[in-house]
Amino acid sequence: MNAYDVVVIGSGPGGYVGAIRCAQLGMKTALIERYNALGGTCLNVGCIPSKALLDSSEHYHQAVHTFGEHGIDLKSAPKVNLTQMIKRKQDVVDQTVGGIQFLMKKNKIDVYHGHGSFVDKNTVQIAKEDGILEKITGKNIIIATGSKPAGLPFISIDKKRIITSTEALKLTEVPKHMVVIGGGVIGLELGSVYARLGAKVSVVEFMDSIIPTMDRTMGKELQKSLKKLGFEFYLSHKVKEVTAKGKSVTVKADNNKGEELVLDADYCLVAVGRKPYTDNLGLEKAGVKIDERGRVEVDAHLQTNISGIYAIGDVVKGAMLAHKAEEEGTFVAEVIAGQKPHINYNLIPGVVYTWPEVASVGYTEEQLKENGTPYKAGSFPFKASGRARASMDTDGLVKVLAHKDTDEILGVHMIGPRCADMIAEAVVAMEFRASAEDIARISHAHPTFTESFREAALDATAKRAIHI
Ligand code: FAD
Ligand code: NAD
Repeated sequence: MNAYDVVVIGSGPGGYVGAIRCAQLGMKTALIERYNALGGTCLNVGCIPSKALLDSSEHYHQAVHTFGEHGIDLKSAPKVNLTQMIKRKQDVVDQTVGGIQFLMKKNKIDVYHGHGSFVDKNTVQIAKEDGILEKITGKNIIIATGSKPAGLPFISIDKKRIITSTEALKLTEVPKHMVVIGGGVIGLELGSVYARLGAKVSVVEFMDSIIPTMDRTMGKELQKSLKKLGFEFYLSHKVKEVTAKGKSVTVKADNNKGEELVLDADYCLVAVGRKPYTDNLGLEKAGVKIDERGRVEVDAHLQTNISGIYAIGDVVKGAMLAHKAEEEGTFVAEVIAGQKPHINYNLIPGVVYTWPEVASVGYTEEQLKENGTPYKAGSFPFKASGRARASMDTDGLVKVLAHKDTDEILGVHMIGPRCADMIAEAVVAMEFRASAEDIARISHAHPTFTESFREAALDATAKRAIHI
């Protein structure tokens, strides 16, 4: 039986990053992955493929809708070749997954393919594709088994017409009408892909706002932009029935006044969240506890109730984000090595890769009100930015929330062009506990989208934005 310092179960961004950090710190490390491809949800059916399709569909949308105004005449109207689009997405995934295989070799990490399950607190059995069972031991074990799509008890997901994000990443036709249940990140990103390619997209959301956990201004602004793309929104609607017959799907929901909504479509994407994945993991054999929502319970060191067994990423509490899983992978490796790492969960940014992009870090305005924190708000609309006008991307704004007395930045929320990348400046500023005035005094290259962050900071610190 092979023996390791650390055995990691699951090769997503939590697991593979944790394994690399363990190896860097001199520990003999094994990584177990039930699929042939490494990289988990993120690389195979999550972040990377969805961004590949978002980019392709945005190119098409721009070609159809804005090239003319830019003075680019196409000989004939552009056409969607969905087969090629999906193939390119898969090429991107394959290359990225190949990169992880390379990194495992480079770091001398032993990779086992097969379903891992605990035999006891130090032993994991791997059930391989060919039926062979192999056992390995670890002084420490990291559970990084991730998550899978959640459903609703009354919906039977047939994966043909009633689908999850996984199927939505490989459709063979552009839907005529796609109903999306859930106005969260997945629903709006994948809804955007197909809306840009010509589908009618209707979003049915339980709450009274889309992306309801983000700062409310973001949901309001994003809804305006997506409406221009042809999205229809049914907020405050509770879905009660979804049925598929042949090539059609019917979705029924009630609004908060008890009125019934009936939508007929050819596809229904169920995007109501994800749930931790611990199926057949044998947690009970190691004595590891889960909480009422099926998440592996961990303490402040991400250690479970069993000494030497840790858990990270989507399978534990907190935001289900790849970069959060990565932070936790590194954190646990360093804890095992006897170091004293730290994660500031409040400064893990959240991004929605629609167009305009939405990006956020720190407290929302609603949270500050609820906590009774005295704050001041500043904002700057992209329509006042020369750079945004040059690229015809004038939707959205940057909002900076700072402490009323100390001027420390407490939250930054932006919706607009390239906000996914722009938010990094806000994260750095907040990590170093910058004030709004600090940002206002830093030179920002002109013309860039980042000037809008400076202007919003100027507005927050002393209501002295220059260009509004
Ligand atoms: P996972 O990536 O889920 O990996 C877990 C791995 O463990 C899987 O490979 C699984 O096969 C394996 N496994 C499970 N059980 C066993 C077992 N018993 N034995 C062996 N192997 C096992 N997040 C972002 O930050 N940015 C994005 O843009 C983004 N886009 C997304 C788009 C979509 C459509 C989806 C679905 C998710 C997206 N996410 C995004 C979320 C992100 O994918 C997850 O937060 C991230 O993958 C979690 O990483 P993880 O390592 O915890 O688990
Ligand atoms: P989500 O939690 O973002 O959104 C789910 C939405 O469904 C919520 O707005 C919720 O109110 C709504 N909902 C729940 N039950 C409903 C019902 N019965 N009827 C109507 N609406 C209902 O979940 P998601 O979009 O499925 O994404 C899952 C996870 O994947 C998220 O935690 C997210 O962090 C992660 N993810 C991240 C990214 C990114 O970082 N860009 C992209 C995709 C997914």
